[in-house]
Amino acid sequence: MSKTEHTLDLMGNWTYAPAPEDSKHIKLNKKYDLFIGGKFVKPGKGKYFDTFSPSTEEKLAEVAEAEEKDVDLAVKAARNAYEKVWKKMPAKERAKYIFRIARMIQERSRELAVIESMDGGKPIRESRDIDVPLAANHFFYYAGWADKLEYAFPGRNPTSLGVAGQIIPWNFPLLMAAWKIAPALATGNTVVLKPAETTPLTALKLAEIIQESGLPDGVVNIITGFGKTGAAIVNHPDVNKVAFTGSTDVGKLIQKSIAGTDKKITLELGGKAANIVFEDAPIDQAVEGIVNGIFFNQGHVCCAGSRLFVQEGIANELIRKLKDRMETLIVGNPLDKNTDVGAINSKEQLDKINHYIKLGVNEGADLFQSSCAIPKKGYFCKPTLFLHASQSHRIVQEEIFGPVLAVQTFRTIEEVIEKANNIPYGLSAGVWTDKGSKIFNMTGKLRAGVVWANTYNKFDPTSPFGGYKESGFGREGGLHGLMPYLKF
Ligand code: NAP
Ligand code: MG
Repeated sequence: MSKTEHTLDLMGNWTYAPAPEDSKHIKLNKKYDLFIGGKFVKPGKGKYFDTFSPSTEEKLAEVAEAEEKDVDLAVKAARNAYEKVWKKMPAKERAKYIFRIARMIQERSRELAVIESMDGGKPIRESRDIDVPLAANHFFYYAGWADKLEYAFPGRNPTSLGVAGQIIPWNFPLLMAAWKIAPALATGNTVVLKPAETTPLTALKLAEIIQESGLPDGVVNIITGFGKTGAAIVNHPDVNKVAFTGSTDVGKLIQKSIAGTDKKITLELGGKAANIVFEDAPIDQAVEGIVNGIFFNQGHVCCAGSRLFVQEGIANELIRKLKDRMETLIVGNPLDKNTDVGAINSKEQLDKINHYIKLGVNEGADLFQSSCAIPKKGYFCKPTLFLHASQSHRIVQEEIFGPVLAVQTFRTIEEVIEKANNIPYGLSAGVWTDKGSKIFNMTGKLRAGVVWANTYNKFDPTSPFGGYKESGFGREGGLHGLMPYLKF
């Protein structure tokens, strides 16, 4: 390898020459309108807001702010498409459209990955290798189910609900849109979807794909805006189902506001996962899993392994190896293929993370941050470890949604199960051990929707995902993901 590709720096670490993904081929409009009834239409009040790149702080585009009247138009378009076209269409015909959308996502995967990294700040390695392929796979997978619902639920004669209002967060913008839209279409429902305000661009590109795919007008409507727009979708009387992914606070508000209506609801909310490493675990693999679980994607993952529990006998060795590995992480330009940790999604989110880092120090936990340099412009955070954290610390109890890991040690299985479960959340967990029986024991007792064993953050469209307790209810993905969009 030539010297320009990688060299040793003064600390003896490898440094790599920049390898940015080309973004010259990306065409963004100056302004994006609302996708309603198969057309891009101007917002009623003519208001737009800016979306930025969190890594450069540059404005990327203006997007429309949908007000109540626009939401009403979108719901009407969805209702009309549902009654006149979509619910009557033979399921195998519906499936063809969903397959087509999947293929078009694949064809435009490079463009979508670059835009995802520009608008949201996640490393191109993640958007290219995880977000975009998984988004296409969700459409492929659910296309396959569209004409097989009677086999999925034998003897139960499932039928569609009508119009689904779907609201998604900023951490997996395209993937969350796919998680929501694909099962809704496969089950014969129509959709009004709102992406998060900081990451609207890939959802709007998906709107272009949907328009090009020839999907009948109004079957999918994509409207941008703030929390108010989301609330207007939730509260619209002609919406039959609400699917929400986001914070527990907003999830609770939504649940309150639909109480007393016959709207169906699924909530995928926050998390504070325990990643548990036993003395008999393969330590190097576990270190890699811990890093993947909390530092890749900046900890912007609802199921991030943000609490680490290490069995006492291996704690010193594991922490030493973890710190060494953290020192090798490259923080910076999300479009660079070498980058491990990209930009924090917004200034507000960075402020929140920094607030928690200060809090952790004040609470008495020991702070360790990797010594890497971070870019002067943009919103970045060093991979951060808190040693000697305790159950009562807020950094242990509350979701930070950043690259911050709180570490505790344990002696016995009973102790770690008690500690892992003693939290309001229950989305996911990780277990690292050589013993299969220990894994089964743990999976039965951990109150978490997903438990990964000797791996972390693995996703597949065939596998259901969802939470316990304040992490929400309902499942997305797999056969289970069809149910919230059907009545029996
Ligand atoms: P958020 O603030 O709850 O926002 C989520 C979405 O809801 C955004 O589109 C937001 O619009 C909208 N919204 C805000 N207020 C609303 C209201 N009153 N009524 C209806 N919609 C409203 O969450 P976030 O900060 O974007 O995302 C991070 C959270 O999502 C974390 O807690 C994370 O754990 C969770 N998450 C969970 C899962 C899961 O599957 N369980 C997956 C990913 C993320 P604006 O963008 O305009 O505010
Ligand atoms: Mg943005």
